[in-house]
Amino acid sequence: MEFTELGLSEPILKALAAKNYATPTPIQQKAIPVLLEGRDLCGIAQTGTGKTAAFALPSLDYFACNPKPTPKLGCRMLVLSPTRELAAQIAQSFRDYGRFLKLSVETVFGGVPINKQIRALSQGVDIVVATPGRLLDLIDQRCFTIKDTEIFVLDEADQMMDMGFIHPLKRVAKMLPQGRQNLFFSATMPKEIEALAAQFLNDPVKVSVAPQSTTAERVRQQATFVNQAEKQALLHIVLKTEEIDRALIFTRTKHGADRVVRFLEGAGIDAFAIHGNKSQGQRTTALQAFRQGKVKLLVATDIAARGIDVSGVSHVINFEIPNVPEQYVHRIGRTARAGAEGVAISFVADDERPYLKAIEKATRVKLDIAPLPENFMEAVRNLPKPAAPKKGPSQSPAQQAKRAEGQRRYQDGQKAARGAPGNARRSEGEGANGAPRRRRRGGGGVGAHKGAVQRTGAPR
Ligand code: AMP
Repeated sequence: MEFTELGLSEPILKALAAKNYATPTPIQQKAIPVLLEGRDLCGIAQTGTGKTAAFALPSLDYFACNPKPTPKLGCRMLVLSPTRELAAQIAQSFRDYGRFLKLSVETVFGGVPINKQIRALSQGVDIVVATPGRLLDLIDQRCFTIKDTEIFVLDEADQMMDMGFIHPLKRVAKMLPQGRQNLFFSATMPKEIEALAAQFLNDPVKVSVAPQSTTAERVRQQATFVNQAEKQALLHIVLKTEEIDRALIFTRTKHGADRVVRFLEGAGIDAFAIHGNKSQGQRTTALQAFRQGKVKLLVATDIAARGIDVSGVSHVINFEIPNVPEQYVHRIGRTARAGAEGVAISFVADDERPYLKAIEKATRVKLDIAPLPENFMEAVRNLPKPAAPKKGPSQSPAQQAKRAEGQRRYQDGQKAARGAPGNARRSEGEGANGAPRRRRRGGGGVGAHKGAVQRTGAPR
């Protein structure tokens, strides 16, 4: 099947051709036709399957066929993402695929000045890609409203739950208007995610491109049993012996990630860490350097690495095993993307053996157990000293103070929303406008808009 057979408008096909995308991926083949009909969708798909284009392309097509001024202080489409990195990535995809359409795309997430976002949103925006915390912050400050949303996407729902976004999501659900189209994506669909989906979706079409909790088939998965204290020596050997183009090294904690980076620095190996204690600037720099191949190793915690789309990740190294099997699936999904082969190597300490068992049970894959390398004890004895911790915190005092202030405001907002029934009622009232479910296209159908897509909205 070709993209040209899906009934997408000309400007979108032109953008796809510019990116050299000819064939839709399986999730795109399944999702795009039903989304073009205006149906709700529940998709089980991991990052790397092309799910961003699966929801971006039909949405852009809808805007191409149904031009309208942007609502004041609002948006026509809202995409929620668990992390800033994923939000930025999704926004970029919308800009790429929508480059021949005059649509505005803005990101809304923490870690960057809120005033700039307030200004950007004041005239109304076509597409907003947001993380839940900052979105609610803006709504609570009455700088933004989602009551005019025509298309709503909840991406990486399982990660949202893991990150504790359940209450913010419930608030968002109450503020959204009726009659909108809803898209819900999750890599896994346990019961609690299904319950969350039910709050947003209306008679959805279900599509799935990977059975629940199965791991990427093209990833060679192996594990080595090793003492926690000796993992650095094993890492040193693995990095020397494996042919690594680019590797993501996972730890469970932020401090663990920093420790690994300091050890690697001490061994003269360049690496960046990416985790929640890093400022947005540091996270962006690290990711950019990794993407551009300036640094081959990125040490990450699960949350920070979620949704990262970097091609050419040859290896995923689990320096520490995740205690939730789904996280393992997400981690190894970072490699073997776009048809490439990948390697996932897990270092398993004694106390992590139950985690390994749980992973094997959930994925129904038995990992190859690789013995410790022959020169291992020698590597332990000659382990380079870690570099001294960098002076000062990973964020400047000003950044830390700002972050604390942001968190305080967000928590206050949440408390106010919980404590003031008037607030809750008003939110519900906004959503309950009884608007009929909208039709996808104007009477002209697909062909009527070909080559004639123009914004009629106020100039921005
Ligand atoms: P995603 O799962 O949305 O993160 O997409 C994974 C990667 O596949 C991204 O780099 C996309 O740009 C790319 N991609 C998406 N759809 C296609 C396609 N039909 N053909 C080739 N590459 C694609």
